Amino acid sequence: MPPGGFEVRGAELMAGGRSVTELAGQLGTPLYIYDRRQIAARVRELRAAMPAGLGLHYAIKANPMPEVVAHLAALVDGLDIASAGELERALAAGVSPARISFAGPGKTDAELRAAALAGVTINLESAGEMRRLAVISEGLGLRARVAIRVNPLFELRQSGMRMGGGPKQFGVDEEQVPALLVELAGLPLEFLGFHIFAGSQILNDDVLIDCLEKTVDLAIRLSANAPETVRYVNLGGGFGIPYFPGETAIDISRIGAALGPLLERGRAACPDAVFAIELGRYLVGEAGLYVTRVVDRKVSRGKTFLVTDGGLHHHLALSGNFGQVIRKNYPLAIAGRMGMEATETADVVGCLCTPLDRLGDNVALPETAVGDLVVVFQSGAYGASASPSGFLGHAPAAEVLV
Ligand SMILES: *Cc1c(COP(=O)(O)O)cnc(C)c1O
Repeated sequence: MPPGGFEVRGAELMAGGRSVTELAGQLGTPLYIYDRRQIAARVRELRAAMPAGLGLHYAIKANPMPEVVAHLAALVDGLDIASAGELERALAAGVSPARISFAGPGKTDAELRAAALAGVTINLESAGEMRRLAVISEGLGLRARVAIRVNPLFELRQSGMRMGGGPKQFGVDEEQVPALLVELAGLPLEFLGFHIFAGSQILNDDVLIDCLEKTVDLAIRLSANAPETVRYVNLGGGFGIPYFPGETAIDISRIGAALGPLLERGRAACPDAVFAIELGRYLVGEAGLYVTRVVDRKVSRGKTFLVTDGGLHHHLALSGNFGQVIRKNYPLAIAGRMGMEATETADVVGCLCTPLDRLGDNVALPETAVGDLVVVFQSGAYGASASPSGFLGHAPAAEVLV
């Protein structure tokens, strides 16, 4: 059984009801394939597991392909963006500005201006940013809609990437928020609420639940100092997906069940607030494949190498160079040899002139020939747009939503 929800017919891997070999033949390699039905199924399962009324946002930095953004825009309650470029993509997907929120350190005046004019919610990352936005709002004769992104005192016990707790470039330290709210009350800004995002790629249910509880309680405490009614609380997310051997999926029904009473507590304190979670990789990561073709097969001092036309210029995370401490293999397979017995062990590498360009170390595979397609699972998030595509001047990977 392949990871994610991909189907196998005979020895052929399928995506969106089509053969991966056929898609690669038509569109060329390297190729990213995203499965729209799997994305929709993921959203349905989440909705069923989460408490009623909990908003579900998509953080489009996970996969900003316009078709993917448009597909998800129709399924979720909001889009979270992190740049003026992502703002354009979100608006192009036909999403109403009221459903878009903009986080990220280092927003330029031009970005703040574009976001204020569009009417999206701007998650303020610092006092300085708040003051710059106030001047811009004044100049435009409007009140920009803002939430305060909070850097909590608590730190995640386990997370792939910590984005809160301790000194951080993200958000306003929790202990500075009350004073900031006093200042905000005198500025031409419309206060909506809070954004608290503690970290990412969490695979431990208890850690996630603990984090959500601390986040709700922090929002409740901070709301006591709010200059206006709190209408928006973004609880973050951080729902992880399993990439490597030994990792297991989170249990969203457990998380949803725990979140129920937490939301009730939050709503009792902030009855006018919409509570939301924002997810990136959990919505798209498992629905994507990266497909490369074997260009060369060689043996070097007893080790077999399969050299492909892909590499870290399309899929940095796969090579182990996107925040990983120790390189581990993503799940790999040969598109037309699914279910066949592994008869050899090979290193699968990319076409770049750097030893960092590795797709798989010591992978057990069926006999693989030049022309075969190496497929990498769990590749729907932080792939094409999170890789140094200009490195070495190769063409970018094609992308398709099927
Ligand atoms: C990156 C990011 C996300 C998405 O993270 P995932 O691990 O892909 O779910 C959500 N919110 C913020 C603020 C982010 O920076």
